[in-house]
Amino acid sequence: MEDLNFPSIAQRIPTEAAAYEFLEELRWHGKPVCPHCGSIGDHYFLRPRNGVSRETNRGSQTQRRLWKCRDCRGQFSVLTGTIMHGTHVPVRTWVFVFYEMVANKNGLAAREVERKYDLSPKSAWFLLHRVREAMKREPAAGLLSGIVVADETWIGGKPKNRHANKRVGSKQGKTDKTPVVSLVHAETGEVRSQVVANVSGKTLKTVIAKHVEMAETTLHTDAAGRYATFADELAGHASVNHKAGEYVRDGVSTNLAENYFSQLKRSIDGTHHHVSPEHLGRYLGEFDFRHSTHDETDTARMGRLMGQVAGVRLTYRPLSGEA
Ligand SMILES: [Zn+2]
Repeated sequence: MEDLNFPSIAQRIPTEAAAYEFLEELRWHGKPVCPHCGSIGDHYFLRPRNGVSRETNRGSQTQRRLWKCRDCRGQFSVLTGTIMHGTHVPVRTWVFVFYEMVANKNGLAAREVERKYDLSPKSAWFLLHRVREAMKREPAAGLLSGIVVADETWIGGKPKNRHANKRVGSKQGKTDKTPVVSLVHAETGEVRSQVVANVSGKTLKTVIAKHVEMAETTLHTDAAGRYATFADELAGHASVNHKAGEYVRDGVSTNLAENYFSQLKRSIDGTHHHVSPEHLGRYLGEFDFRHSTHDETDTARMGRLMGQVAGVRLTYRPLSGEA
């Protein structure tokens, strides 16, 4: 597929049927996969009788492209079993939002989606959160190893408390901000971020054990003694002492994580204005996805995202709320 951009996508998907075909190409590369039995390949395409659309049981017309599995005889479309399953939002809109979410450095504001694609506030919100849900899935690559930078930050808080929060700083004092730990692979730039309840040594170790192969990882951190509590389980631990004004020493620094945090905070302040702690995990997934794939073309990023849209267990309430 050629390198995608907004106009080239718009040209490729003038109709709903074309948007289905586009997603089929991105997800299946010409070999449809049956979501019911997992069978790959030469399934039957069910051509609508009039060649264009068929009637839904509500009496409206749909251009949904349907397939029939050669093995289990089940019917499916490219949306079956994905975050798009049962959606009432046009598939063209999903494609445009997918593109904007992978390509826009700051992501997309729900209000912008609402206005641009003529959706209700609720539909726009659900749509974005589903895309985030797909973006945040664990990369198949598994655990990180090598040199990994680990750092913590505090996100959000009510504006009126900002000043107080600043004074509290990174101490675990009284703050309405949410602590976040990010791990950045020094070589690939892959990021794994996680909302945490606190930044105790025990919590940090749990996060790190979940994302890195500890015995094969050298951790670079700020001189937080909390990391030292489990340093003997790592291949190595090197730190710089920010409090003493030391930011880089012998190639050790936490700059990668700090750059990530400043981009994240700029985007949250500028695009989303406020993110509740409850939803922060999904935003982190979105930012991790973009940051981890910053070397890839937008086409490759779209393909990667399409590989992650299936099998997401949705914790959302009804689809019927979508307009
Ligand atoms: Zn099947």
